[in-house]
Amino acid sequence: MSMLRFKVVKDGFSKKAVPVEEPTERPSDYFGKYVFNREKMFTYLPKKTYDALVDAIDNNKPLNREIADSVAAGMKKWALEMGATHYTHWLHPLTDGTAEKHDSFIEHDGKGGVVEEFSGKLLIQQEVDASSFPNGGIRNTFEARGYSAWDISSPAFIVGRTLCIPTVFISYTGESLDYKTPLLRAINSVNKAATAVCQYFDENVKRVYSYLGWEQEYFLVDADLVTARPDLILTGRTLMGHESAKNQQLEDHYFGSIPSRVQAFMRDLEIEALKLGIPAKTRHNEVAPNQFELAPIYEETNLANDHNLLLMSLMKEVARRHNFRVLLHEKPFAGVNGSGKHNNWSLGTDTGVPLFTPGKTPESNLQFLVFIINVLSAVHKHNGLLKASISSATNAHRLGANEAPPAIISIFMGSQLSQVLEKLSSAPIEEILNIGGKSELKLDVSQIPELMIDNTDRNRTSPFAFTGNRFEFRAVGSSANCASAMIALNAAVANELMDFKKKVDALINSGEGKTEAIVTVIRNMFNECKNILFDGNGYSDEWKAEAERRGLDCETSIPLIFDRYLSPASVEMFKNTNVFSELELKARNEVKWEIYTKKVQIEARVLGDLALNHIVPVATRYQSVLLDNALKIKQLFSAEKAEILSRQDLDVIEKISGHIVAIREQVEEMVSARKVANKIECEREKAIAYHDTVAPLLDEIRRHIDKLELMVDNQMWPLPKYRELLFIR
Ligand code: ADP
Ligand code: MG
Repeated sequence: MSMLRFKVVKDGFSKKAVPVEEPTERPSDYFGKYVFNREKMFTYLPKKTYDALVDAIDNNKPLNREIADSVAAGMKKWALEMGATHYTHWLHPLTDGTAEKHDSFIEHDGKGGVVEEFSGKLLIQQEVDASSFPNGGIRNTFEARGYSAWDISSPAFIVGRTLCIPTVFISYTGESLDYKTPLLRAINSVNKAATAVCQYFDENVKRVYSYLGWEQEYFLVDADLVTARPDLILTGRTLMGHESAKNQQLEDHYFGSIPSRVQAFMRDLEIEALKLGIPAKTRHNEVAPNQFELAPIYEETNLANDHNLLLMSLMKEVARRHNFRVLLHEKPFAGVNGSGKHNNWSLGTDTGVPLFTPGKTPESNLQFLVFIINVLSAVHKHNGLLKASISSATNAHRLGANEAPPAIISIFMGSQLSQVLEKLSSAPIEEILNIGGKSELKLDVSQIPELMIDNTDRNRTSPFAFTGNRFEFRAVGSSANCASAMIALNAAVANELMDFKKKVDALINSGEGKTEAIVTVIRNMFNECKNILFDGNGYSDEWKAEAERRGLDCETSIPLIFDRYLSPASVEMFKNTNVFSELELKARNEVKWEIYTKKVQIEARVLGDLALNHIVPVATRYQSVLLDNALKIKQLFSAEKAEILSRQDLDVIEKISGHIVAIREQVEEMVSARKVANKIECEREKAIAYHDTVAPLLDEIRRHIDKLELMVDNQMWPLPKYRELLFIR
């Protein structure tokens, strides 16, 4: 690999990368340059304010007004020194991205001029018109007003010339209208529940952190080509396009060398990311041509998620600078792999103990097993909900498409750990406990992490896999807000841990020893949930049948999968953990169905337009060229010879006609299906209608267009083809 840094320059009509001088600064010099982190807090805040703020952050305490004013003053000073002119509350509404409304720092000074102002009040809370964001009817029922409030657990940062303050977004009556509020609630809930369980083993544990390390996959495409593809611009994916003769069949892209133009982009992106405190660590080519991945070092879940959202917008901006467009859609191209966003997730204590890593002592191994089994049980009970948490109109193209996790949630544990668990479930309890007459765990699991890492005991087809010290939730979509999956997972595990503790306490209260009580409860739990374990090929049809028999959720229709949020078990679980009220769940589902409908609707409109005014006219024109040719042959040659010479033309003419007729009919059918669906008032029913009657026609129409692409004169074809889009030159 080249050690040089590149910049891209125009060279006639093409672009080329030329080396630039290496910067002398190291990442450690500029990491977090644009972040109001603890180091800056210490420099810019009075000692008393600094102490109060750190205490509030570390111990989940509210900030009083006086301290807030002092924090705001210090933050303003820093921001102005960094050249910021505006500030914004940075929120995560129920759309794909983030939202911001910039306000300048200026205020009248009373003497005809202005001064830069920023008060604690502006820092802490602002009123936002909730009606301009998806809210699922909450504003109709109550009030249009919403509030954004500073999330002190995530530091403020500067993008361009704007100071961004991470905030939660709630309605006037306190319902969450965003992803961040429930994520913070879920993290809080798992912290409380896990801490209580950890105290069986170590009373010094006061807090348990949830960690997330995401791996972001994406495609890069030449900007000029994207401009010529209305489908990519408007829907993020190609709605048509025949497979390129060469795509990923040679498997030469994965971990291959990175093209220099792409390397220049990655360098630039990483430097920007590091300056914003995002610990970008790993980059590589992915399986499909033009597909890449970026992964940071894992962080506390809330911060990691902020960083992922920030990175996604950063990518779009940096890509433009390099004359690329980044595609975050889960399936931009048919026939090659789609993009996901693996969510590596773990829990760890404030005493530095990772809870999914086997320990060296029987005690710590028991703690490890407790946490593992609580996760298995949570995922088993809520497998349908977890699937709903990663489902969307866009991820639908990836799930179950034989390249990404199937639309059934199961867990891969690897053979070593499965053996230990099996022993726990079936061996006589004396065999599991009692070492030298004491009630201690005999199961030896201490070599497991080494074994796992050594023989890379991995199963790429599993949507949820244990990878030695963490779980990897692989079904998350590349464009998704990770919070959706992280809310469901952390809340479900929190609920399970609470339940577990109740059962253990009941046994202890009835006189059983602590270790025996714990072993008895996890053993029962394991026996009830072991159906969730599956180490085989998740893509196979046998697994679908087997999963059905095991009672796992096998639904594949996205609008119906969303129902899982409203099942009694989900409502109960979210209520117990204080993550969502039933009202919030209902409102959010309205938003999910509405977004699903709109995405399919937009695709249907774009495809209808492209089919009728790009493809059909061109196919017709080519057809008349052939007709013309056939006619001339007839005029010039004897009937017998003409018949032979024009046979193939006539053949193609007929085929083209067939496709044109089919496209016209199906577009008409799609328009009627949309009209019928649009009349449905209920968002759920409407989404179901779009799924059942509109979406399938998209594939049908595409099939005909892709056939035409192979027949029509290449010079006439109005859109860049896959072979151009997928290979960066
Ligand atoms: P892969 O081999 O799956 O690509 P990597 O080793 O590159 O995995 O790690 C993927 C992600 O997992 C990274 O973001 C990494 O920081 C994160 N990760 C590693 N250990 C943990 C952990 N204990 N908890 C959460 N995330 C973790
Ligand atoms: Mg991974």
